[in-house]
Amino acid sequence: MSDGVRAGIVVTGSELLTGHVQDRNGPWLADRLGALGVEVTDVMLVGDRRDDLAAGLRFLADQRVDLIITSGGLGPTADDVTAEVVAGFAGVDLVVDTAMEQHIATILAKWAARHGFDGEALVAANRKQATVPAGAVLLDPVGTAPGLVVTVPGGPVVLVLPGPPRELQRMWDAAVATVPMTELLARTPPFTAVHLRMFGLPESEIAQTLRDVSARVDLSGVEVITCLRRSELEVDLHYGPGADTASEELVAEIERRHGRYIVSRDGTSTDEQVAQLLLAGHTIGLGESCTAGMLASRLADRAGSSAYLLGGVVAYSNAAKTALLGVPALLIETHGAVSTQVARAMADGARATFGTDVGVGITGVAGPGGGTEAKPVGYVCLCVTTSDGVVRERDGVFPGGRADVRERSTDAAMHLIRRALTS
Ligand code: ATP
Ligand code: MG
Repeated sequence: MSDGVRAGIVVTGSELLTGHVQDRNGPWLADRLGALGVEVTDVMLVGDRRDDLAAGLRFLADQRVDLIITSGGLGPTADDVTAEVVAGFAGVDLVVDTAMEQHIATILAKWAARHGFDGEALVAANRKQATVPAGAVLLDPVGTAPGLVVTVPGGPVVLVLPGPPRELQRMWDAAVATVPMTELLARTPPFTAVHLRMFGLPESEIAQTLRDVSARVDLSGVEVITCLRRSELEVDLHYGPGADTASEELVAEIERRHGRYIVSRDGTSTDEQVAQLLLAGHTIGLGESCTAGMLASRLADRAGSSAYLLGGVVAYSNAAKTALLGVPALLIETHGAVSTQVARAMADGARATFGTDVGVGITGVAGPGGGTEAKPVGYVCLCVTTSDGVVRERDGVFPGGRADVRERSTDAAMHLIRRALTS
């Protein structure tokens, strides 16, 4: 990949350095660049200070990146200095682009009419946002500031984007379509990407497989990135034309050793698959104890979930389990509230309560108190039942603190739903 196109990202914003606001632009841009075959070498966060931004640009130029993307600091206020600093970096003057000035004036006039503002401040803001490095390609504002594409002679292309994530994202397609960007992207070498998603496999197992395969196959042309997210192990392979065979051998060995853990081979997550499976004609009802609605929230994260998610009950106490989900009090007394029997009764009860064909029951000891020797903190029972008589159960001890146990229970429930619907 080293002869490919390399990029650095400079995210500006003093509020991002306090730790109070999380950067959403760096990861988004890195993901987009990766999909285009651009290698991201650095993502930097700098405050809204001229010197710091200039130093960031110089650092990346020293790394010989082909592309620098900045986010933020395009607004009308005094701490918005990106256009000015980039002009200095490129060694060009700042000029007022009169066509853009006119365009922004129209945007501002509409805004002012709606909000009842007008006057000097707006005129000044307008002029500042139309003041751009000479020779820059301008991208139509999504808010009021244009994006900029500045080609530094003998240096990188600098793409300057606004800070608000929504504005930055909406400007992306136009940015990628500009001449300097298409010329740059034409130089990315052809590559193939393989995205494997696995559930329940520890990262160490994949590491071992990689070591074993690399002992007999030259994997130097295959970039492998593994990452654990939402209890799913993501294994992404990225390789050029020369490394097809090596990659295929690696994938074949992963299939052979870990095939039963593979959730998808096209990068789709368990959550996406569950949504698709449910959309195919199911409805689902939930009975949640220790997760207390987290599974409902997870399912509702997706647009269109109302087609299949009919409802959920948070049944925390024994009385609630009986009253809301029809779990027999005797069953709870006999086996305990955290038991596979009660999880199953909760799943059946959720189906009955909401009139669905799929039901989920989750009951567990989230901790830190309440554990016993037989049922320690982290012990969780999950069950999915369907009106066709499918029963999928799982119980076990999840490691970690209270938040981890509840989160992993939700992950496990999503996975169990998937299994119940594919069986
Ligand atoms: P504006 O015209 O709104 O000032 P701008 O391009 O100057 O646009 P900033 O001033 O840097 O952008 O940021 C505006 C707001 O957008 C910030 O207060 C913050 O809420 C949000 N924002 C900016 N950058 C990021 C980021 N990297 N991640 C998340 N939010 C961000
Ligand atoms: Mg600003």
